[in-house]
Amino acid sequence: MMKKLISIFTKIFPRQWLIKLSYLFSLLVRPFYIGNKVECPVCGGHFRKFLPYGYGKAMDNRLCPKCLSLERHRLLWLYLKEKTDFFTAPLKVLHFAPEQPFLKRFRALKNLDYTTADLDSPIADLHLDVTAIDQPSDTYDVVICNHVLEHVSDANKAFAEIKRILKPGGWAILLVPINPDVDTFEDPSIIDPKERQRLFGQYDHVRQFGRDYADVLRKAGFKVTEDRIYYEIPDKQRERMHLARRGEEIIYRCEKLA
Ligand SMILES: [Zn+2]
Repeated sequence: MMKKLISIFTKIFPRQWLIKLSYLFSLLVRPFYIGNKVECPVCGGHFRKFLPYGYGKAMDNRLCPKCLSLERHRLLWLYLKEKTDFFTAPLKVLHFAPEQPFLKRFRALKNLDYTTADLDSPIADLHLDVTAIDQPSDTYDVVICNHVLEHVSDANKAFAEIKRILKPGGWAILLVPINPDVDTFEDPSIIDPKERQRLFGQYDHVRQFGRDYADVLRKAGFKVTEDRIYYEIPDKQRERMHLARRGEEIIYRCEKLA
């Protein structure tokens, strides 16, 4: 029932609306999810289960009923907490297409000089194109740009621009949907939404990133560290928090060499 409802909702409403409606929505559904079977490290909530989520066909047990985190947000949160100084060091951060569960939490971190950016979202601090970033070189300690590069026609331009605005020694988190069964491929001639869905996994994706993603990032000039915190977390906790879908288990830290 809930699965069907969410599937219908994500089909009918544009993404901007969904973001606005989502807070109200989370208040309405929360009473039905009271329990202690799953836990969200982002908001600290525990629930009977997570909400279903997905474009087209919704899948069970994915979205936090309180902060609306997905698996990848929960894993990245733990990574930033456990493996970086993101929550403690004075860092200048640029966050593209800021994810709902992170936005107010990152903004509240006193140690960060935190700026959000988006191509056109009214809630972003700056309107920036990731393939031509209107910011000076060597400016940011951290750039976060998740689930954007699969939509961008020239990913190499975006990689080069992100690297340019990072300070030497700065790092970026550039998560993308990965199909671990294939190597990265794109075909700019494919513009039909149905064909994009079939080949690239979503109607508005212009490429499919694959198992070679670390090499793609290295070719773009980053020093890449493949972090496996996912595998370091005890099985029980990992299952309780639903931390990754297949292909999302590794977090790639992309550093600009000094
Ligand atoms: Zn949560």
